Amino acid sequence: MINQNVLSSKDLMSMEDKYGAHNYHPLEVVLSKGEGVYVWDVEGKKYYDFLSAYSAVNQGHCHPRIIGALKDQAEILTLTSRAFYNDMLGRYEKYMSEYFHYDKILPMNTGVEAVETALKLCRKWAYRKKGVAENQARIIFASGNFHGRTMAVISASVDPSSRAGFGPYMPGYDIIPYNDLEALENALKDDNVAGFIVEPIQGEAGVVVPDDNYLTEVRRMCTERNVLFIADEVQTGIARTGRLLATCGNCDCSNRCENKPEVKPDILILGKALSGGVFPVSAVLADDEIMLCIRPGEHGSTFGGNPLACKVAMAALDVVRDENLAENADRLGNLFRKRMNRLVEKSDWVSLVRGKGLLNAIVINDTPDSTTAWNICLVLRDNGLLAKPTHGNIIRFAPPLVMTEEQLMECCDIIENTIMNFKKD
Ligand SMILES: *Cc1c(COP(=O)(O)O)cnc(C)c1O
Repeated sequence: MINQNVLSSKDLMSMEDKYGAHNYHPLEVVLSKGEGVYVWDVEGKKYYDFLSAYSAVNQGHCHPRIIGALKDQAEILTLTSRAFYNDMLGRYEKYMSEYFHYDKILPMNTGVEAVETALKLCRKWAYRKKGVAENQARIIFASGNFHGRTMAVISASVDPSSRAGFGPYMPGYDIIPYNDLEALENALKDDNVAGFIVEPIQGEAGVVVPDDNYLTEVRRMCTERNVLFIADEVQTGIARTGRLLATCGNCDCSNRCENKPEVKPDILILGKALSGGVFPVSAVLADDEIMLCIRPGEHGSTFGGNPLACKVAMAALDVVRDENLAENADRLGNLFRKRMNRLVEKSDWVSLVRGKGLLNAIVINDTPDSTTAWNICLVLRDNGLLAKPTHGNIIRFAPPLVMTEEQLMECCDIIENTIMNFKKD
């Protein structure tokens, strides 16, 4: 048997390289432990996690309450499939319906499965309710989107590395520029359009924040044209952007949408932090008029709605509410951008900071194909903070939302020192 303790970071990286598919290019650090906002590598060095597994770990690593729920349920019942009822699913569905103010939820596992589910639901609705002729339904996507990696979803991507070489692609899509209401208005003129799917902030594209009125207008225009507004909040949802949902950015409800969000999508897609970073849990939420368009036998998932996931997701959302993570993200996000704006003034390396809540990015002042952002991330790592470039010269900063102000200031110091002393070799 292999003794885990005698394998170095280098050994473990070469094992992944030799035996694993090369579909990722990780930053060179091998993690073996996490707690709250911190992670440790196999040599015992401690880091601030400033990626949070792409916002799946909003509640912090190994949150005791979430791990407790996992352990408790794991000893009782883990999986029944949906061939039978289980005693957690109904409880979870009621909890989700009340938490997010939708009539119903359809439980899935990964984010992309929830996106696929939403797209299927949208097409069914088009045929069963809107009266679109068979096989004619169209769905509008925004350019620069990231909705996951399946065939149907990469068919809507404009990123060559996601898309090229995987054709033929799914028909029935239109791709319009992001944050462009005129383009949306034109696209909506086609009566066969069934839905518009959009991220409230484009995460993978480099934390691209649309104009203040964008989502409100999207809502209004979709209603006017009888088109479903589908919000992919897999990354922006669950308190990341300083509100429970990024689509409630325009109302003042701060956390639980008690006042009903001004911008309520017809279909809401959640994933990532719904699991508290424990294992894949995703969800599609909609009201009866839409959700009941899919009938028994027409869609499903062996693991979707399993009792373990139900228990873990409820604990994950309890933590978000009881620890006021949305408020914390909002407050710390403002402090973070203030500090980074000071850095923009002091350093030629950073041209701007943007984001909402604790989903932020800095744009590095170099060409998109340069390795500058990557090299800065290597020095950040050496200085005890883990972040990763997205789309070339942009660095995303998304720490767990359980961070304290003191910790955030220490992280800002690390980022500031790293960038002020950074030299291109
Ligand atoms: C991560 C992500 C997905 C895909 O989630 P997976 O769990 O990786 O399948 C979909 N949409 C958005 C906006 C995401 O950030």
